[in-house]
Amino acid sequence: MKKKNKSEKVCPCGRIITDPKNKTGLCPKCQKTGVNIGGALGLAGIVILVKKHSGKIMKGAINVVKNLK
Ligand SMILES: [Zn+2]
Repeated sequence: MKKKNKSEKVCPCGRIITDPKNKTGLCPKCQKTGVNIGGALGLAGIVILVKKHSGKIMKGAINVVKNLK
């Protein structure tokens, strides 16, 4: 059995993080992946917001049409 150094950080992917200044707990490769996932989630959030907003606009438009009749 190999003893693990307590100060040694290991990335979830299994890579040992050699950078002592690393505070994320992720290796550089996973940091990039994390940024990509974060960006994708942000994009998904924007799409959801736009969809919600467009739904409101649609309802508003329907109300305007009803009021015109
Ligand atoms: Zn990693």
